[in-house]
Amino acid sequence: MPFDVDTPALLLDRSRLQSNLSRMRSRAQRLGVRLRPHMKTAKSIDVARLLLEPGEGITVSTLAEAEYFARHGVSDILYAVGFEPGKARRASQLVAGGADLAVIVDSVEMAAWLAESQLALGVWLEIDTDGTRCGISPDDGRLVEAAARLGPALRGVMTHAGGAYACHGPDEITDAAARERAAVVAATRRLGDHGIPVAGLSIGSTPTATFAADLAGVTEMRPGVFMFQDLYQAGLGVCSIDAIAISVLTAVIGHRTGELVVDAGALALSLDRSTARQPVDWGFGALCSEAGEPIDGLYVRAVTQEHGIVAHRDGGLDVGAHPIGSRLRILPNHACITAAAHARYHVIDHDDVAEVWPRLTGW
Ligand code: PLP
Repeated sequence: MPFDVDTPALLLDRSRLQSNLSRMRSRAQRLGVRLRPHMKTAKSIDVARLLLEPGEGITVSTLAEAEYFARHGVSDILYAVGFEPGKARRASQLVAGGADLAVIVDSVEMAAWLAESQLALGVWLEIDTDGTRCGISPDDGRLVEAAARLGPALRGVMTHAGGAYACHGPDEITDAAARERAAVVAATRRLGDHGIPVAGLSIGSTPTATFAADLAGVTEMRPGVFMFQDLYQAGLGVCSIDAIAISVLTAVIGHRTGELVVDAGALALSLDRSTARQPVDWGFGALCSEAGEPIDGLYVRAVTQEHGIVAHRDGGLDVGAHPIGSRLRILPNHACITAAAHARYHVIDHDDVAEVWPRLTGW
């Protein structure tokens, strides 16, 4: 330190990353489920290599990720965003290249389409746990119809408890995890009653994977954010602030009355305002020193494309302590979205940039 890197830049603290990875690995072991981590957070083969055991599968959110990880030798891939016919060409190329690609659907229409297609894809039925996004409810008649259409292509039932993000603290998240488990177990029972066996029961979000008390019957979980953690997870009680492994290195470029202007704006941090729903609202990010020590009360109050305005919660910011050209770090509200703005990680080890890891962008 100081880091020999142009700003703004995405830093990744290797030791925090490693402890986040091992903590989730032990959770999965203790709960008796496989880990199928969601690589949409890191989009990096270097992170995957630190995490994955030989032959272990991953979850992805884009076909570009599926192609990237397949190219780097990961073959068991679940593309966990609803499939549609326009994706058939790239999916079939992945399979032809040797990937074991599975997709998710939540309609009879797409189940029938996939069953009639010549695509050798595994298919998971998406189950709705809490009404937040997609999925068929376990007691909806379309569940049995869709599964029957799929026949042997059916790999299992999966759900994502997006509602866990509205919880207040660990007890509520434990309940959300119980509902997430109950949804896939109920769907499996229902299909079993109709003579349709279900091999895979997949659940997962970072909050529910962290606080699930019991995953009996579940075969795998798919958390993603846990790798890096972020301010939103800290606000939920999922992690502490010092577990957050990524930050944006920024330079002070100007002073206003009682405020700093930095060179990390909306494009380097994202416009994510998820902590606005939590007791501590971090604006567009929380400030740390260049060494990574949190600076009490300092946050990004506003952003434009390339500018961030840094203020103190109580108005007491000594701008003279941060001369133009000095550097700070910003912790993200939502790690996946902030990381998505950057093409590489500057990996910090023992207070130095030890390596640069590329990361995938685009679709
Ligand atoms: N599975 C699916 C289908 C998801 O959409 C997501 C996140 O959006 C995850 C797993 C991972 O959850 P989290 O982002 O809480 O780690």
